Amino acid sequence: MDLSFILNELGEERDQYFNAIAPPIIQTSNFAYGKVEDMRKAMADEYDAFLYSRGNNPTVDILCKKLAALDGAEDCLVLNSGAAAIFAAVFANVKSGDHIVSVKEPYSWAQKLFNDILPRFGITTTYIDGTDIENFERAILPHTSVIYLESPNSWTYALQDLQAVAELAKAENIVTICDNSYCTPIYQQPIKYGIDICIQSATKYISGHSDTVAGVLTGSHSMLKRIFNSEYMSIGSGIQPFNAWLLLRGLRTLPVRLERVSATTGKIVSYLKAHPKVESVIFPFDESFPQYELARQQMTGACGLLSFVLKAGTAQQVELFCESLQHILMAVSWGGYESLVIPKIVGMNPADFNSNLPEHRMVRMYVGLEDAGYLVADLEQALEKL
Ligand SMILES: *Cc1c(COP(=O)(O)O)cnc(C)c1O
Repeated sequence: MDLSFILNELGEERDQYFNAIAPPIIQTSNFAYGKVEDMRKAMADEYDAFLYSRGNNPTVDILCKKLAALDGAEDCLVLNSGAAAIFAAVFANVKSGDHIVSVKEPYSWAQKLFNDILPRFGITTTYIDGTDIENFERAILPHTSVIYLESPNSWTYALQDLQAVAELAKAENIVTICDNSYCTPIYQQPIKYGIDICIQSATKYISGHSDTVAGVLTGSHSMLKRIFNSEYMSIGSGIQPFNAWLLLRGLRTLPVRLERVSATTGKIVSYLKAHPKVESVIFPFDESFPQYELARQQMTGACGLLSFVLKAGTAQQVELFCESLQHILMAVSWGGYESLVIPKIVGMNPADFNSNLPEHRMVRMYVGLEDAGYLVADLEQALEKL
């Protein structure tokens, strides 16, 4: 399906709402029926009906159609956060006593699910280095039900060979789930490599304006219908119509924003690599990246997230750099219009700082929509302080 058709037309039935160009926010909790038989059908199968907005809602439905098509998937569910999407996808595919194989250091709230919540149901998780397919083969147990991936990882940028993992999992009857927040479907489509469920934090690039929290699940009709009828409806964390509308608005410009972010990121990477106060830059589309070949093969683009290691002797110097930035903000999240940094040491006790460990001197940067020159000038004056 044509990308422009998906973004501008798919799912939009303008004759149903005064031929308005922008779809309405159908801010309603429930839908009325004239015939008992129609209502009976809707109650028996809410997945394909408008009955109550904890289930389906027309504004959300437009968004779902577009997001499913972008991923090359049959169906889509949009939840109130990426974390809720992770929870629903994993929870729907495990039972008491099962085992999960996960890439190491997945998104923090996926780790909390695996480490703190699922063990209460006797579900254990083995973390592996997902850069080598043999590590998956070794970790799989007879009761493994889910393989959890994040490619690239939003901190380490580690990739998995999605097709190889999907083939291995299919042969063992294991459900594969992949967090695709880094690439979005514009730059990578895990479903096409055979992955069963694709997750995105729509808070990041899909929203694109740092004003909405949401999460996306895509996959087969049967898989998503099953998740809808259990976790999705029980947790009741489906996205609200207004937030769905904001995501629709974000989607219109997604490819253009990513193009801009990618171009600027390339310039920032070159600038940082040449800077004497920067030891190294970690970015999947940089030739020095250990999995560069796989990144080029599996992803059609890499966008705004990169990390760099400062030549800093103390934690204070890393802090000085971050606090000296005048335009680039220090904040969590990414994918919006504004550039951001977050130093790795923000998550550790400053007393544990060890300047011999590059990881402690690492800063993650998200490149937003500003001019490259504007960002370089800000980085330059902050690096000069080191
Ligand atoms: C932000 C993020 C999530 C969680 O999404 P929320 O919308 O914040 O709940 C999941 N995975 C990755 C890679 C993320 O960056």
